[in-house]
Amino acid sequence: MSSFRYWGVEIWFVSVVSIVAIIIGLFTGFTGEILFVITVAYLAWHLRQIYRLKRWLTTSRDLYPPESEGIWSDIFHSIYLLQKRNRKSKKRLARILSEFRSSTAALPDGAIVLGEMTEIIWFNKSAENLLGLNVKKDVGQRITNLIRNPRFVGYLEKGEYSLPVEITSPIDDDVKLSLRLTAYNKNQRLLMVRNVTRLYQLEKIRQDFVANVSHELRTPLTVINGYVEIFSDAKEQLPGFFHRPVDQMGQQLQRMRSLVDDLLTLSKLESGDEPVREVSVMPHMILKRITEEAKTLSEGRHKIKFSFDNEDSIKGNEKELLSAFSNLIFNAVRYTPTGGTIEISWTELVNGYRMAVKDNGPGIEAGHLPRLTERFYRVDDGRDRAVGGTGLGLAIVKHILERHGSSLKIDSEVGVGSCFYCDFKAVK
Ligand code: ADP
Repeated sequence: MSSFRYWGVEIWFVSVVSIVAIIIGLFTGFTGEILFVITVAYLAWHLRQIYRLKRWLTTSRDLYPPESEGIWSDIFHSIYLLQKRNRKSKKRLARILSEFRSSTAALPDGAIVLGEMTEIIWFNKSAENLLGLNVKKDVGQRITNLIRNPRFVGYLEKGEYSLPVEITSPIDDDVKLSLRLTAYNKNQRLLMVRNVTRLYQLEKIRQDFVANVSHELRTPLTVINGYVEIFSDAKEQLPGFFHRPVDQMGQQLQRMRSLVDDLLTLSKLESGDEPVREVSVMPHMILKRITEEAKTLSEGRHKIKFSFDNEDSIKGNEKELLSAFSNLIFNAVRYTPTGGTIEISWTELVNGYRMAVKDNGPGIEAGHLPRLTERFYRVDDGRDRAVGGTGLGLAIVKHILERHGSSLKIDSEVGVGSCFYCDFKAVK
């Protein structure tokens, strides 16, 4: 029976009973009393149905409703259908949740859900194994109580999660982990943990290989260089035929020595074995010194200006900063044609400082910019080789700046010039 029919029958029943009561009342003279008794009985019946409904919904574990008549049978039936539907979707959700849990448990990567205060809400089996977490002890704990590595703490606080951070496992020094956060909902974060020990070992083998080869090349190069110098010094005594080859041997040897030195510097920086030995350095003094060297390199072919608006010091490694700044400034000298201008500046920012080298040289197409700090990447291989660089300069700059909490930024326009700059935090 449809709901409307139930309502129709109910109204019909109430009307008939009322009319019969009124008629009896008219005959007996007790219309009011009869209507009152009927109303009370009707109300009592409804109250009893409400009481049964409440008992069924709260205390009964039975899915099926109690028997009833009239409109109440319809209400009970509708609620029964609703409950049935709810139970079905509850079961479906429970099944999805259990499938999700078993699939995340099977993931080789650790997954940890963090709450608003970075407290652990949930984690899978792999996270348990990789970080030594314990469901009973660690749920509700802040993640920084369990992973205390300063690099991870800094990463968590920074809020910039586009790249992962690599740390040594807190439970095993031989295991390297890559941690990556993803923010979702309002304040929740998902922490993915991956074991990258194998990758790390391969990278280490590569770095060691480059470092060893460079190191081994140094000795024979020094010996050959000694002989070439002897030939150079005694050039006048050699037949004219040998003059050019001796000069060229000298130049190429110098190039090879620069390459080997740069490779060694780069592998030392890449290995990250040595932390930055931070002391107070005065960048304006370093830049003054490099400006003089740049003028010597330019041999008067460029207008080279240096300006600074402060003599403050920053924390860093003087030798490394000198190497990074010289690479940028000497590049500007080498790539800017004769007559060009090179402006070097050290300026104060709201919360730090900026070192910038601006030239009006050939400029670099935007497509090359993201790859410029890769090893041996050159915009124009023939031209750039002729200029005499090793192709490793900007890779070295990138690593040094990273070690100093900074990064290399480049603005460049073909035919207009380039500006290489980097920002440093102020010393607190
Ligand atoms: P290289 O030793 O070849 O100079 P770098 O790593 O220092 O290597 O620079 C990479 C490339 O970036 C260079 O080969 C050159 O093409 C480009 N480059 C660097 N500085 C400048 C500049 N100031 N103007 C134009 N191109 C530049």
